[in-house]
Formats: sequence, structure tokens, C-alpha cells
Amino acid sequence: TLAYWNGSLLPLDEVSVSPLDRGFLFADGVYEVVAVYDGRIFELDAHLDRLARSLDAIRIAPGLDRAALAAVFERLAAEAPRPAATVYIQVTRGAPAQRSHAFPASAQASILAFASPLKRLGRDQQQAGFALVSAPDIRWLRCDIKSIALLPSVLAAQHAAEAGALETVMLRDGLVTECAASNVFVVKGGRVATPAADHRILDGINRRIAIRLAAEAGIPLEQRDVAEAELRAADEIWITSTTKELAPIVRLDGAAVGDGRPGPVWRRLRDAFDHLAGGPAEL
Ligand code: PLP
Repeated sequence: TLAYWNGSLLPLDEVSVSPLDRGFLFADGVYEVVAVYDGRIFELDAHLDRLARSLDAIRIAPGLDRAALAAVFERLAAEAPRPAATVYIQVTRGAPAQRSHAFPASAQASILAFASPLKRLGRDQQQAGFALVSAPDIRWLRCDIKSIALLPSVLAAQHAAEAGALETVMLRDGLVTECAASNVFVVKGGRVATPAADHRILDGINRRIAIRLAAEAGIPLEQRDVAEAELRAADEIWITSTTKELAPIVRLDGAAVGDGRPGPVWRRLRDAFDHLAGGPAEL
């Protein structure tokens, strides 16, 4: 696998990172993941915007401008596996000479990027739908920053894996926030709701796509607080992310969602999404 590492292109397993890198010692960095469909990057501008916001929020200067960052993505996407792949990029505060918590006086940001194959959720799996489990949201209050400090998300994802579920939906103060690595939508009586994009969630790029597609289809959608009770009473639930795209949920903590099958609102948006992605996933 080809990697970008601080200005060089080299095989991923030849990248060597300093043990003093603040990404390693403090998780002091941010990241992005884009999808690549047949060599074409999906929504690159939106991901570059979000990367810039994350970097600003934790005051890292990446040392590459937007065009140079875009070129890194494009370079890795060009050789990415087909038909579908992701490109991961992370920027850390670099490797100063000494470990200390406050920002170092001088350290160049470290930038790592590489592509991986993306196994899209298959059409058969989508038709069957997926399970979701719930857990308390134990994260900090700047979930709008795409930080590489992901321990609560790691634990939530493991909770889902051990339950045989696709994702864990997280609950804070009686409200739905989001999943370990995806956003959540609920449907009741044909109306869609999703938590508003504030400090409690990451504003997902596919979340925004779903919101736009709903608007284009004339489907009413509100961005607002979503109570746990609404989640449990929903006709439909689906989740969105770069890697899971738009995935229908048919079980929540073991109970059926609606009639236990993917719903009509999800179906409409899924078809519209596949159109944007250049076609549906394989069976
Ligand atoms: N929420 C969290 C916490 C995430 O980590 C992610 C993506 O990894 C998402 C939501 C979905 O964001 P996107 O649609 O941009 O992939």
C-alpha cells in the first residue's frame, strides 16, 4: 500500500514515526476519511472544509495548503483499490524533542495518508437490514472535532461487534447523539429527524448528503434534539457515514424497528445516494 508521509510517497510499512510524535503520545491530532468510487473521490471539498475546521479548532497548522492537501488525496485515490476504497489522512502536532502537554514551541505537523479497500455494505445485506445496540455517550463535549482520540468510539464499536450489531447508538441525557462512527436518523409518520450538528456530534458528510437528498425528494426533515423514546418508537431508523453510506436499521437492542424491515423513506434516499455514488453496491 502506497502512503504519503510528510512530503514523501513510500510503502505504508516503510513509514517510521517518532515515538515522540504527539499523535502517538497524546492523540494530539485530527483526521478525515473519504470514499473513492472507481477512482473518483466522493465529496472531497466537504471533507477538506471539515479537515480545515478540525485543524483550526485544535490550532494545528498543517504546513500544506488546501490545494496541496487535495493533491495528496487525489494522488492516493488514483492508485486506490477498485471498485471502492477509502483514503485516510491524519495530521498530528508533530514530534518535538521532548514530551510535555502544552504545544511545543517548534514542531512540524506530521501528515500521514493511505488508501484501503472499502467493502461496501452489499445490496442483500441492506435488504435484510442491520442491528443497532445502545450505550451511554461517554465522550467529551467537542465531538464536532474529528479528533484521533477515539477510545470511547473504540469501546462503543467493540460493544456493537460483540452484540453482532452494525453500530452502537450513543445516548446522552435522554437524547440520541450519534453512533461510534456514524450519524443517526429516525422516521415517524413520514417525517425525518436527526440531531442538530452542534458540539455533541460530528457533522457527517453523508449526514449532510442525506439531508440534501431528503430536501430534494420533498421529505420533511428536522435537525433537532431526538429523544431516546423517539428512537425506540421510530417507524424507521437509518445511519450514515462515509464507509456505511446509508444503512437501514431493523433491530434496536433486540427489538424490531417499525415492521422489522427497511422502510420506504430509507429506500428512496438510498436509491438517490447510489445515483450519486455512481451505482449501487454489489450483491
Ligand atoms: N460521527 C462520528 C463520530 C464519526 O466518526 C463519523 C465518521 O467516521 C461520522 C459521524 C460520519 O461522518 P461522515 O459521514 O463524514 O463519514
